[in-house]
Amino acid sequence: MYQKYSSLILLCLLFLNAYPQDQEKAILKTFHSISSHDLLNDATELSSAKYGGRLSGSPGYQAAALWVADRLKQASVKPGLNDGSYFQYFPNAYTDVLNPGSVTLLAGNNNPRKEYKFPDDYFPGSNSASGTVSGEIVYVGFGISAPELGYDDYKNVDVKGKILLMETGLPYIGNDSTLLKWEKYSYHRYKFQRAKELGAAGFLYVSKIANPNTSYLEGFVYAHIGETVAEELFDGTGRKYSETNAAIKKNIQPNSFVLNKKVQISASTKHFPDSRSCNVVGIIEGSDPKLKSEAIILGAHLDAVGSPGCLFPGALDNGSGSVDILAAAQALAASAVKPARTIIFIFFGGEECGLYGSSKSVQSPVWPKEKVVCMINLDMAGNGTGFRISNGKSHPDLMRPFADANEKYLHRDLISSETRVNFGRPRTDAAVFDKAGYRTLSLGTTGTVKPVYYHHPLDNTDALTPEIMEDAAKLLYLGILGLAGNKNISIQ
Ligand SMILES: [Zn+2]
Repeated sequence: MYQKYSSLILLCLLFLNAYPQDQEKAILKTFHSISSHDLLNDATELSSAKYGGRLSGSPGYQAAALWVADRLKQASVKPGLNDGSYFQYFPNAYTDVLNPGSVTLLAGNNNPRKEYKFPDDYFPGSNSASGTVSGEIVYVGFGISAPELGYDDYKNVDVKGKILLMETGLPYIGNDSTLLKWEKYSYHRYKFQRAKELGAAGFLYVSKIANPNTSYLEGFVYAHIGETVAEELFDGTGRKYSETNAAIKKNIQPNSFVLNKKVQISASTKHFPDSRSCNVVGIIEGSDPKLKSEAIILGAHLDAVGSPGCLFPGALDNGSGSVDILAAAQALAASAVKPARTIIFIFFGGEECGLYGSSKSVQSPVWPKEKVVCMINLDMAGNGTGFRISNGKSHPDLMRPFADANEKYLHRDLISSETRVNFGRPRTDAAVFDKAGYRTLSLGTTGTVKPVYYHHPLDNTDALTPEIMEDAAKLLYLGILGLAGNKNISIQ
């Protein structure tokens, strides 16, 4: 108890002592100017139909990128590219889904037996080819042929001309070095390629989320279905979908079979193979002559999943993180007390398509890697009552100014975790920076108070809690100011 109080008092003293009183007053003035009202307005803008769900590569995303760059400019946050531009481009093919299409269970005579409903039962494939395919359904588990691992979902089934019913992910669920051997089979793109190679006509993917991180293959039509539909398709086979799936994972043994049912999938899409997308990069030059050569990167993905069948607004994922860092950028730029180190803001494109934007960032860095203190990522930070800073326990020096600011001014629950080695494929922009050797923190929200509609049409602004977004921006403003001015932070 004593120790707790003494460290509390020490924390307050440290924070107060960090700035002279007049400076603290000026900082608090900017701090209080951050308002949930403005953050919600910005999230409403980015979630609106004019940006079409911000699918990376599409004109809607490009318009959102222009809007963000304009806001940075208004706030006097300078362009982050050497050529004086806010935009860092990279190739990004994309597919427009023109309407919801259809998924229909067929009777023996090929007449429709049941029309599934969008969006309750299925989502069209975000990278489906256009057209109609039909055929017998074959359940192929995870759709993996891994001879070196003694595992082949296709071993005892002929899938030529058939519609496959397939799981996402891997039958191996551990996170250890064995996962490394499975990693390449976890990619959607591998599964698509393998199914096409074997002559499948198309597939039903058991994962009802919109997902542009798949590949467009000529003539290959697919749709996403939920587990309820998968269970229904198993009716009459003498097996249960959930048990079959669980048994494959438990035994790491394939369990593929013909369902004796027919299905028809229709999709209406247009593919744009030669499109490009961009990161939006802004910069606030450090105020300290020495420390300004070192930078802190603040990132959030701006893209979402587009309009596959209807608008998917992407408010929480990741309109929230985008407007949080935009508000922090505005505050840091307006602050009378300037950050000593340089702050770089990156609104990533292509996250949902396969982490294209963050990969571009580490391949063509706008700041020398050896001069970057850390990268702080925000993804889905706008629903709840508290904060989580992942990796914070592994980097106490980076964590400290955020914990101090929360303790003194925000009083939110704040949890942090140690860096967890991930043996699987990277899933976030932060993971791309981790892999490239940067120190990273990820700020998210905890204590969810609204339902989370992940990659779903209902991920709109009703799914947000603006007060936690305001506090996330305030936490970033104070924490980054503290981090930028701390001379004792070691780089890398
Ligand atoms: Zn996201």
